[in-house]
Amino acid sequence: MILEKAIFIKLKFLKSTDQELYDHAVSCFKPAKQACPVCGAVGRFREIDSYERYMISANGSFRVESTLSIHRFQCESCGHTHALLPDVLIPYGSYSLRFILTVLLCYLKRSCPVVKFCEQWNIAVSTLYEWIHLFVNQYNAWCSILDRILWVSSAALNSVSSTPAFPSSFLMRFGFSFLRGRTATPSGPVPLPDRRFRAGPT
Ligand SMILES: [Zn+2]
Repeated sequence: MILEKAIFIKLKFLKSTDQELYDHAVSCFKPAKQACPVCGAVGRFREIDSYERYMISANGSFRVESTLSIHRFQCESCGHTHALLPDVLIPYGSYSLRFILTVLLCYLKRSCPVVKFCEQWNIAVSTLYEWIHLFVNQYNAWCSILDRILWVSSAALNSVSSTPAFPSSFLMRFGFSFLRGRTATPSGPVPLPDRRFRAGPT
């Protein structure tokens, strides 16, 4: 798996849609300059095919669904194949990072019961609570001990959204994507370690 940096700035200031971020990250990807995450060989990638991937994102406070074409590359040195995934996406899931953070923020501001709220976003109640617990656990791992939280909060969401290039920074520090569940398993055709190029395009 190749996790390409797509969110360069603070999440809260993003003007582009996830689709636009995805398209931009793919267009910036230069396989001739990349090192293979498995064997380290540089410039040995060959695009072999693509597959469709469902993406659920948010535009403002609305759910937006789209289908992406994910490009796959093969390293001609070691033979491993890698899917190119910009960091707007969370590996092994359909929900974009922006979607989950938007839902959590709206959850804090909701004026209706949780069941009704989840119906409006077309998610299961169990999914919402899974995201809350993931957010709390991973946020607490990210921040200092004095800033730890017991439940999702506006301040914590603002802190994450205000950190430049947060998705890539979190990935580099912990080796897995923010809000990716530890139990998530590969559903695509490329079950490779969750790593990204250290020398990827900026
Ligand atoms: Zn390789």
